[in-house]
Amino acid sequence: MRVLVVGAGISGLAAARGLIAAGHEVVVLEQAEELRLGGGAITLWYNGTAILRDLGVDLDGSGQRLTTLCLRTAGGRRVLDFDLEALADRFGSAARVIPRGSLITLLESGLPEGTVQFGARLAALQADVDGVRVRTQAGEDYSGDFLVGADGVHSRVRALVLGDGPAALTGAAIWQGLTPAPFDPGSTTTLMVGRQGDFGYMGAGDGLMQWFFDVPWSPDAPPEDKPLEMLRRRFAGWGSPVEQVLSSLADGDAELFPHTRHKVPCRWGAGRCALLGDAAHGMPPVMAQGTNQALEDVATLVECLAEVPDPGAVVGVYSAKRRRRAALASTLASHGLAVSGPRTFMQSEYLMRMNGAAPPRLATRGFGRLLSSLSSRI
Ligand SMILES: Cc1cc2nc3c(=O)[nH]c(=O)nc-3n(C[C@H](O)[C@H](O)[C@H](O)COP(=O)(O)OP(=O)(O)OC[C@H]3O[C@@H](n4cnc5c(N)ncnc54)[C@H](O)[C@@H]3O)c2cc1C
Repeated sequence: MRVLVVGAGISGLAAARGLIAAGHEVVVLEQAEELRLGGGAITLWYNGTAILRDLGVDLDGSGQRLTTLCLRTAGGRRVLDFDLEALADRFGSAARVIPRGSLITLLESGLPEGTVQFGARLAALQADVDGVRVRTQAGEDYSGDFLVGADGVHSRVRALVLGDGPAALTGAAIWQGLTPAPFDPGSTTTLMVGRQGDFGYMGAGDGLMQWFFDVPWSPDAPPEDKPLEMLRRRFAGWGSPVEQVLSSLADGDAELFPHTRHKVPCRWGAGRCALLGDAAHGMPPVMAQGTNQALEDVATLVECLAEVPDPGAVVGVYSAKRRRRAALASTLASHGLAVSGPRTFMQSEYLMRMNGAAPPRLATRGFGRLLSSLSSRI
C-alpha cells in the first residue's frame, strides 16, 4: 500500500519506519521546513525501548540508561527507590532518557532519502472507499491507499476526520529544560512531590540534565518573563537540589508546555484514515506516557495493516486494540499529580513519607505491573 503519514514528529517517523519495514511505500508530509529537533528529553519506558528496537533503532550510546527511580518528599526525604534494572531484566529492555532531538534524528536516519516532504502542511483531506487524497497549504496534491494522522496535539487530521473539538487545557503546565548538569545525577531519575507541584531531574547523556517543574497555569495569566523567580518563590523551602538546579539556569533555559488532554476517542479515525500519537491521545507529561503510548500505537497499527485484509476496516480493529490502554495512561497522567486544590493534601510531607512504608521490592513489582498494564508489548 501507499501510505501518507502526516507529521514528522516521533510518532510519524516511527510509523514511517514500521510501515516501510512491513513493505509499504510511505510519504511523510511535514509542515515545517526541516525536522523539529527542539524540546527536552523523553523518558522511554520498557515498552518504548522494546518497540524502538523492533523498528531497528539502536539506542546504545544515546541518552542515559536509567537504573533507579527515586521518589522523594518536597523536603528531600527519600520515600522509595524503584529498581529499574530489576524491571529491565524482567522485560528484556531498558528504561532510558533521550533528548527528543536525538530520537528524531535516529528515527529519520533509517528512512530512505526523500521519504519526508518538508513544507507540506496538510490543509484538506478527502477519503473514500478507494483511497485518500491530501492537499497541502501550498496547493500540492498527494494520494495514497491509507493515511496516518501523526500531526500532534493540535491535529488537523483529527479535526477533519472526527470533527471534535481541540485538546483541553488542564490548568497545569510544565516548566522544563535540557541544560548542562550542575552535578552528576548518575543513572537515577528523581521525582520530588509536594503540595506546590513536583520537581524532577535526570541525566540525559553528554553531560546534560533534563529537569522540570509542574505548576498551576492559566492562559489568562500574564506571560512569565522571569520564570526562575516564580519557580524559586513557589518551591521555596524545598530540599536539595532544587536551589542548586535553579541557580545553574538562566531564564531563557526554561520552556513552558501547558498540560493538555484530548479525549481518547472510541474510534481512532474513520475509513482509511487512522490517528496516532498525540493526535489520538494528547495527555499531560506526568508519568512520561505520551511517547511510549505513541510507540504502542505504531506497533499496533502496523500489525493491524498486515492482518486486516480490508484497509477500510483497519481503524475499527486498531482502535479496539489501543483504546483501553491509552485511556488508562491518559487518566493516570491527568490525575497522577495535583498542583492546586484539596488533592494536594495527599502530597503533603507527612502523607508522602507514608508511601515509604512499602517494601522496595514490592513497590518495584507494583510499578512494573502498572507499566505492563499500559502496554501490549511488555
Ligand atoms: C518542537 C517540539 C518540541 C517538543 N518538546 C517536548 C518536550 O520538551 N517535552 C514533552 O513532553 N513533549 C514535547 N513535545 C511533544 C512530544 O514530542 C510528543 O508528545 C510525543 O513525542 C508524541 O509526538 P507526536 O509525533 O505524536 O506529536 P508531535 O511531536 O507534536 O509531532 C507532530 C508533527 O506534526 C507536524 N504537523 C502538525 N500539523 C501538521 C499539518 N497540518 N501538516 C503537516 N505536518 C503537521 C508538526 O510540525 C510536528 O512535527 C514536543 C513537540 C514538538 C513538535
